[in-house]
Amino acid sequence: MTDTTKTLCPYCGVGCGLEVAPPSQPGKATNRDSEGTPIWKVRGDRDHPSSQGMVCVKGATIAEALDKDRLLYPMVRDSLDEPFRRVSWEEALELVVHRIQAVRYTQGPDGLCMYGSGQFQTEDYYIAQKLMKGCLGTNNFDANSRLCMSSAVAGYIQSFGSDGPPCSYDDLDETDCAFLIGTNTAECHPILFNRLQKHRKKNRKVKMVVIDPRRTPTAEAADLHLAIQPGTDIDLLNGIAYLLMRWSYQDSLFMDDCTSNFPAYVEVLKHYPPDIVASRCGIEVKDLEMAARYWGQAENVLSLWSMGVNQSWEGTAKVRTIINLHLMTGQVGKPGAGPFSLTGQPNAMGGREAGGLSHLLPGYRTVKDPEHRAAMEQFWGLKPGQIAVRPGRAAWDIITGLEAGEVGFLWIAATNPAVSFPDLDRTKAALRRSPFTIYQEAYYPTETSAYAHVLLPAAQWSEKAGVMTNSERRITLCPAFRKAKGEARADWEIFAEVGRRLGFIEQFAFKNSAEVYDEFVQTTRGRVCDMTGLSHARLAAEGPRQWPCPDSGTVDSARLYTDLRFPTADGRARFAAYHSKGLAEPPDAHYPYVLTTGRLYGHWHTQTRTGRIEKIRKMHPNPFLEIHPRDAKAIGIQDKDWVEVQTRRGTARFPVTVTRSLAPGTVFVPMHWGALWADQAEANALTHPAVDPDSLQPELKACAVRLVPLAVAQEDIHQEKSGVRLIAEGLLGR
Ligand code: SF4
Repeated sequence: MTDTTKTLCPYCGVGCGLEVAPPSQPGKATNRDSEGTPIWKVRGDRDHPSSQGMVCVKGATIAEALDKDRLLYPMVRDSLDEPFRRVSWEEALELVVHRIQAVRYTQGPDGLCMYGSGQFQTEDYYIAQKLMKGCLGTNNFDANSRLCMSSAVAGYIQSFGSDGPPCSYDDLDETDCAFLIGTNTAECHPILFNRLQKHRKKNRKVKMVVIDPRRTPTAEAADLHLAIQPGTDIDLLNGIAYLLMRWSYQDSLFMDDCTSNFPAYVEVLKHYPPDIVASRCGIEVKDLEMAARYWGQAENVLSLWSMGVNQSWEGTAKVRTIINLHLMTGQVGKPGAGPFSLTGQPNAMGGREAGGLSHLLPGYRTVKDPEHRAAMEQFWGLKPGQIAVRPGRAAWDIITGLEAGEVGFLWIAATNPAVSFPDLDRTKAALRRSPFTIYQEAYYPTETSAYAHVLLPAAQWSEKAGVMTNSERRITLCPAFRKAKGEARADWEIFAEVGRRLGFIEQFAFKNSAEVYDEFVQTTRGRVCDMTGLSHARLAAEGPRQWPCPDSGTVDSARLYTDLRFPTADGRARFAAYHSKGLAEPPDAHYPYVLTTGRLYGHWHTQTRTGRIEKIRKMHPNPFLEIHPRDAKAIGIQDKDWVEVQTRRGTARFPVTVTRSLAPGTVFVPMHWGALWADQAEANALTHPAVDPDSLQPELKACAVRLVPLAVAQEDIHQEKSGVRLIAEGLLGR
């Protein structure tokens, strides 16, 4: 390809490098989408160290979604029942500023809320923190990362003293035991899975253990698949630790020198002998023993996890219990080893670095720490005490705040909570009660646009310059290589403009995103995530870099904690002592099945992009429910029959796929379908809002359901809702 731009795939946290070229090139045919628009050419970037040229279907087809159904102009309406009308940016921004001031004076700063996204670039995240937490004095900024990996953040902070995955993708090539728990890596992080599989093909002794109630494509490839009952992860992990101790696989030297709180952990482990654990988990004792042997006998153990662990009301405890196994056996701070959380979104990591959750501040600081607050107040040129002392509203707290009338102004950007939040009927009712909601998005319509009073068109990936950090702490510059559509502006520019109009001229006097990044990296000086050595110019010249990357001295950025010292008060990593709480909503006589939810290979989250890509729509045309043959027989249904899934909160309807990939008693539905793409197929109409007490992450993975066969086939209800799309086209004047 000629005239290529190197950038990063804007979908998942693997963070694959892409090369993108203009649609028209001399002597070559121009690809066009179904609407006749020329499509940019995309391929994997062989020079990107994280992906080495590999790319999955999502990255390969990203360009097909860039021009479809774009929100082109600011639009407003007085109530949700009225149509939107096009307005100028001037009019829209005046309205936004007026409403912010009104709420500040009537309800105080905590009446303001912003809900952002792991799709943000780091510059967007940083300016949003400066505006909300700094200038406006409310910590009510949360992001969809709360639904994705906040349990990993809490687990790392509590066990190691700081957030930050300590591993690199190179560890996939050096491990001799990959321990995958709560992650369908083959479908959700496919390029990492390919890399692990290549390593296993070359090194037949490398073991892969997969722990998942469902026999996913990842589990199919494993040496050992432990299909545990949903909610028994901690039982299993404690059971493995029990056996590691019994067989003397612990690294006593490491534990003596580098850890604390082991005695409390041992007290807990006494309650997890193999027969009890195997019975609770629904597995055989010999399989439990085999998992413990694989871990104990390996030189280097790498654990990988994602939403199956994090999205739980005991997600933090699960993360810490995984880390316990590493601490017990000295499996951290060396090649091929360590606890490695895989982030879902392309820049959830950058969000953590920039303080993009309601309890965080930039540079891996926390709101609760007075020194951290003071440091940021001074850095931002604000008066002492300006940053609020308490964490702000986490994702679900925004919903309860709307219900209580405590949120008077809600600004949602680059995310789609009307599909992704739990207990959707309740979520939608709360969103309808919002006195004033801004929705800042690249696309229109989405399910959430129905709940907005103001629509602000956002420039998206390809149209704005900024950085993103992937799961292995590698930062890639994503340059702008196309003009923004219509009147769309970068998220950070919109936040900065509002800041200036509120009177914070000096704080938001940035000419471009490179200047924003230069300021942001200074907040990381001396922190675990030190990036003071980075700039847009350096990333453009030298390519992607991992942090830590300070502006002086040399550091090993491939792995954290190689000196076996941890950023806790005593320099030791901390064991955690947890018993399992089980499921937040266990099955009972009225709701006898456990529903678990998950992702499919081609689709991304709520389909805002992938639903607009023909190839992916053909790959996964409709939602479905997977059920074991025994359960299907018990309720008198066969393959392709329809069922209504009922919970205490809502219902949804699906055709069934009868499969042995799940144990009896558990059913599965994919989470990608919102009201725009199918009728009555929302997985989150069924899920409940119970949250982890530390990470405040909801348990999106499991709830109790009953199944009612539908007498009449429902073939048509999952077809595309073309009416909605036509309305959108009318509004957009196309
Ligand atoms: S694995 Fe993730 S980052 Fe890589 S191409 Fe696929 S979606 Fe993009």
